[in-house]
Amino acid sequence: MAQSVGAYQKCINPACGAEFDVAESIFKCPQCGDLLDIQYNWDKIKVPDKFAVFGKRWAKRDKPLDFSGVWRFRELLNFCPDKNKVTIGEGQTILQQNRAIAEHLGMKPEGLFLQYEGLNPSGSFKDNGMAAAFSHAMMVGAKSCACASTGNTSASVALYAHSCGLKCTVFIGSGRIAFGKLSQAMDYGAQTIQIQGDFDDCMKQVQAVCVELGLYLLNSLNPFRLEGQKTIMYRIIEALGWDVPDWIIVPGGNLGNSSAFGKAFLELKQLGLIDRVPRLAIVNATGADTLTDLVNNKKLAWNGGHVNRKIIDDYYADLTARHFSPHTCASAIEISRPVNLKKCLRAIDVCNGVVLAMTDQEILDAKALIGKHGLGCEPASAATIAGLKHLLANGTVAKDQRVACVLTGHTLKDANATVNYHKDKQGPFSNPPVEAPNDLQEIIKLIR
Ligand SMILES: *Cc1c(COP(=O)(O)O)cnc(C)c1O
Ligand SMILES: [Zn+2]
Repeated sequence: MAQSVGAYQKCINPACGAEFDVAESIFKCPQCGDLLDIQYNWDKIKVPDKFAVFGKRWAKRDKPLDFSGVWRFRELLNFCPDKNKVTIGEGQTILQQNRAIAEHLGMKPEGLFLQYEGLNPSGSFKDNGMAAAFSHAMMVGAKSCACASTGNTSASVALYAHSCGLKCTVFIGSGRIAFGKLSQAMDYGAQTIQIQGDFDDCMKQVQAVCVELGLYLLNSLNPFRLEGQKTIMYRIIEALGWDVPDWIIVPGGNLGNSSAFGKAFLELKQLGLIDRVPRLAIVNATGADTLTDLVNNKKLAWNGGHVNRKIIDDYYADLTARHFSPHTCASAIEISRPVNLKKCLRAIDVCNGVVLAMTDQEILDAKALIGKHGLGCEPASAATIAGLKHLLANGTVAKDQRVACVLTGHTLKDANATVNYHKDKQGPFSNPPVEAPNDLQEIIKLIR
């Protein structure tokens, strides 16, 4: 089979293992319906043997593909020619050591790092994935695209679609989207269809619509998106002088990020660019904890790719029978049937991972803590610090380990959550405004 630029698509089901050209846009294995992976013929790709090569490119601000935080690592996601590569300046994100939060959590002050992916063009990590997926869309000549979204995917898709000249339709659940995110989809010119249902309903409908109308699908079911999201890990270890931390902590929704991170480390290890793999902690909200329940209670595991499908099917049948709909203030992870579940199990296997679920109160308190001592973030992102607190308390993470938390979305995405926390005095970090008469002496008395 023709395999463009050293890459091909491969079904992750070992009983199938079907391979397809990267020039096809299929999103699921046409033979068995399982997820697809992008695989590389590494011997045909000239991968720099030193990480520093990627870092040096960043200085070239006049070369968009070198400056892109995704494409400067292009040899590690080498599936499309340069002429199709899309960038709008994604991935200019920073890893920030945060001593204050570390001390608050009782960790060694040098040990905690926050990777703020809210600094992307559309305000979330999704842009890393979209730079890659839209490049693939250009490569296959797509004209229209679509996605289902809890919010940030729609904002990112709308932004990239506009810059690539693609028509775009986004599907959102009714009443389930943070205002900042909805404002972006509308502002960037996407057709926004609000379905009476939740994210899982949207995800099902969008797949059918894409097949029916031949639209290019941009959910993380699209394996090219995950290739772009690998670069978040490259940037973290780059910022640590090409050293891996002991732990990566990430919120878990549709499980695209966690899947991509596991794949990134697996490949770097195979290429000999790193000699050890960090551990991965994936944090759900208790109101949307399918992964946690399946892994911790039902003992679902990767098992060399032979995942016990019956456990998943029974679990989902029960959700359906109970008319279960997930509920959490962390709207970005309000998902009960995560499409990348199997790939995430692989990531847990590769990274000796753990999963856990935190309550909305714990998430909101963690968000306020990050706001007070960091750059802020939206609720889903704060699940990382909430989870870290828990993992420190039960001894899974040691106080002197190095931990990098991925803050997935910008604090202004969900300003309502922040305002309500402070104004309604929802937790220990609430900091509401103080009312004052229009009188200098009275105002001075109030200053603390
Ligand atoms: C999409 C999103 C998530 C969930 O990521 P998955 O890859 O779907 O697990 C978490 N946080 C934010 C801010 C998001 O936009
Ligand atoms: Zn297959």
